[in-house]
Amino acid sequence: MLGSLRSIVQEVNSARDLPAVLEIIVRRVREVMHTRVCSVYLRDKESGNYVLMATDGLRPSAVGQVHLAPGEGLVGNVVTREEPINLEKAEAHPAFQYFPSTGEERFSAFLGTPIIHHRIVLGVLVVQQEEQRRFDEGEEAFLVTLSAQLAGVIAHAEATGTLATIRRQRQETHFSGIAASPGIAIGRAHIVTPRANLATVPYSLCLDIEAELVLFRQALTSAREEIREVGERLKCELNREERALFDAYISMLDDNSLAVEVCDRIEQQLSAPRAWAEVMLEHVRRFEAMSDSYFRDRAADVRDLGARVLTHLHQQQQSERDYSENTILVGEELTAAVLAEVPREKLIGAVSVKGSSNSHMAIIARAMGLPAIMGVQDLPYETIHGVDMVVDGYRGDLHIHPGAELKRRYDEIVEEEQQLAHSFDHLADLPAETADGHRVRLLVNTGLMADVARSLERGAEGVGLFRTEVPFLLRDRFPSEEEQREIYREQLEAFAPLPVTMRTLDVGGDKALAYFPIEETNPFLGWRGIRVTLDHPEIFLAQVRAMMKASLGFSNLRIMLPMISGLNELEAARKLIERAYRELLEEGYEIEMPPLGVMVEVPSAIYLIRELAERADFISVGSNDLTQYLLAVDRNNSRVANIYHALHPAVLRALQEIVNTAHAEGTKVGICGELAGEPGGALLLVAMGYDMLSMNATNLPRVKATLRAVRQADSKLLLQQALKMSCPVEIEKIVKSYLKKAGLKVTLQP
Ligand code: PEP
Ligand code: MG
Repeated sequence: MLGSLRSIVQEVNSARDLPAVLEIIVRRVREVMHTRVCSVYLRDKESGNYVLMATDGLRPSAVGQVHLAPGEGLVGNVVTREEPINLEKAEAHPAFQYFPSTGEERFSAFLGTPIIHHRIVLGVLVVQQEEQRRFDEGEEAFLVTLSAQLAGVIAHAEATGTLATIRRQRQETHFSGIAASPGIAIGRAHIVTPRANLATVPYSLCLDIEAELVLFRQALTSAREEIREVGERLKCELNREERALFDAYISMLDDNSLAVEVCDRIEQQLSAPRAWAEVMLEHVRRFEAMSDSYFRDRAADVRDLGARVLTHLHQQQQSERDYSENTILVGEELTAAVLAEVPREKLIGAVSVKGSSNSHMAIIARAMGLPAIMGVQDLPYETIHGVDMVVDGYRGDLHIHPGAELKRRYDEIVEEEQQLAHSFDHLADLPAETADGHRVRLLVNTGLMADVARSLERGAEGVGLFRTEVPFLLRDRFPSEEEQREIYREQLEAFAPLPVTMRTLDVGGDKALAYFPIEETNPFLGWRGIRVTLDHPEIFLAQVRAMMKASLGFSNLRIMLPMISGLNELEAARKLIERAYRELLEEGYEIEMPPLGVMVEVPSAIYLIRELAERADFISVGSNDLTQYLLAVDRNNSRVANIYHALHPAVLRALQEIVNTAHAEGTKVGICGELAGEPGGALLLVAMGYDMLSMNATNLPRVKATLRAVRQADSKLLLQQALKMSCPVEIEKIVKSYLKKAGLKVTLQP
C-alpha cells in the first residue's frame, strides 16, 4: 500500500484547489481500499461543525447537507476522541446517527480517522462497506497515515481557497506564525519565488490578467528569438537531425493552439508560469505515454522547451521587480541574500513560510530592526503578491487586507514604539552598570556595514561577534583575500580603538553559500563552522591573513572560532593562525598577534571548558546553537519552535557552569547568542557573572536600561529562584513578572 499512499499524496499535491484535492482523495482511497464508500468531512470554521464535503459512494446530493457537531454521530465522535473508530456494525454503536439524504443505511462496516493539523481536527476521513466486518490493522494504519499526510495539504488548500475569496472580497484575514523580529510593519507584500523547473512551479493566481497575458507573449517571443539565434550560431556544428530539433522547437512555439491553451488558463486568473507549466507538463505526459519510442524521446524535448520559456517568464518578472515604498518581503524560505536585494529604505518587514525565530534570517532581521514573522506554515504565499498587510513581529500575527480599525490600532502601536525608542536616546553615553554599580560590557553583533553606525550611536563598546559569513553569503563567489581585507578594515576602523571580535567563517547548517553547496541529510550535525575551514586551510588562511592585515595600525582585532567541539580543533586552528601571523611579519606587516577566543556552542565544550579556558584568551558562548544542541531542537524548524527555550533549566545550569569554570581559570567570558539581547536573559547572565554581553544594535538600549534599573544583588536572587525551577515556561514567567515589578514596562513589548 506504500506505493498507493505515495501516489495519492503526489496527486493531491498537484491538485489546483480544495475541491480537486477532496475529489482525488475520495476516489483514490475507495479504489485502493476496495471499499464501497469514501467520504471526507471538514470543519466549518464558523459553526465548528463537520460537514460532508466530498464522497464517492454516498449520494452526491448529500454533499454540503450533512452537518455534525463534535461528539455528534460517529464522525463527531472521531473528532472528540481524536483517534480512529473502527466498527464492524456501525448501526449498533450508541452514537450512530442515520442521515436519509446519504443513502448510507446499507453500510455496516465503518472506519473513520481524524485529520489533524497543529493539534486541530480539520476533518474526518471515512470508509464504509456493506458487509459486517472490522477493517484490519493494515487498512486502519493506511487510513491513519494518509490522514496525517493529507492534513497539511488540506490546511494549505483551505487557506488558498480562503485567500481566493479574500482576494475577490478584499476581506481582512489572519495567519499565525512565529514572532521572529519585533516591531510592526504596515505595507505591501512582495513575493519572492525560487527558480523552478516545470514540475515545481507553485499554484498561483495573477492579479492583473491583461498584464499576465502580455508577460506570457513577451516570454514566448524572447524564447523564440533565443532559439533562433542559438540555432543560427551552431548551424555549422549541428547535424541535420539536431538542426531539425531547433526547427521543431520554433514550430511548437509558433503553434497557436499551445498559446491559446495557456492564455485560456491565464484568463481564469492562473499566473503565467503556472499556466505554462501545467500545459507543458500535459504535453510531456502525452508524449511519454506514446508507444513509439521516437515520440517518447520527444517528451524530453518538450520539457526542455518548457523550461526555456519558464526561464524567460522568470526573467521578465525579475526585470519588473520594482519595490514599492513599504515592501514586505514574503517567501517560502527567505535568506539574507534576498533581504539584501531590496533597497533598505523601501524594506519594512519580512514573512517566511519556513524557519523559526532562531534561524539566521531571523537574526539578521532583528539586527536590521526589521519586523519579521517566520514559520507561517499555512500561508499560500504565492497568491498574495501586491496585497496590503500588517506584520506584527511581536506576536507573530500576519493580517491580510487589514481594515481601517485594525490599521488604526497598529498605527498607535507604531507611535508607542517610536516614543519608547526615543526614551532610550539619553542612555548612549551612560555606562552599562547595574543600580549597585556592577559594570558589564555591552557589545554588538554585526555582519552588515549598516550595523556599524547604529551600533556606535547606541553606545556599543565594541563588537562581540562579527559574523564574517554575511559578506560571503551576499556574493556569488568567495571574496578574495584583498576584498576581505577591505571589508574587515572598514569594521576595525569604524570601531577603533574598541575591540572587534571577528568570527572565522561559520557556514553550513542553515547558512549555505550558493557557490559552495553542501548537501547533507543532517546539516546542523554535519560539516559546519570550524570543521569546514579546518578541512579547507586555504579558505581559513586567506581569511585570517585578511583579518590580521586589516588590523594594521588599529590593534583592536580579536579572532574567534565557531563550533569548537574539542581541544584538537582549537590547536589546529591556532597553528594555522600563528603560521599566517609569522608569514605576515616576514612580509613586513607590523602587527600584533590578536587574542584568540573560542565559542562555546557545542555541548562537549561545556565539559572541556577548563582546558579551553586555560588555552584560549577568551570564551564566548553561542547560546543559540548551545540551546539547539542541548535540547536537540533544530533552531530552524518551526514545528518544534515551541520547545526551543533559551531559559530551559538545563541551558541555565550549563551557562552558569561555563562562567564559573572559566573564571576559575582567570579567563573572561562573554555571550553572543540572542539571549544576551533580551532584557530578562541579560539580567540572569549578569547575575551569573558574565563579563560581556553581545547583542544586536536594536536591543542594546533596552538591555542597558534594564541593567541600570536593577541591582545585581537582586538579579542574583531571581537567578537562584530560576535555577531551582524545572519548567522553562514558569521560568520565563517569573522573569517577566520580575521585570514588570521592577517598573521595567518600557523594556517589554508594547
Ligand atoms: C550562536 O550560536 O549563539 C551564535 C551566536 O552563532 P550563530 O547564531 O551565528 O550560529
Ligand atoms: Mg552558532
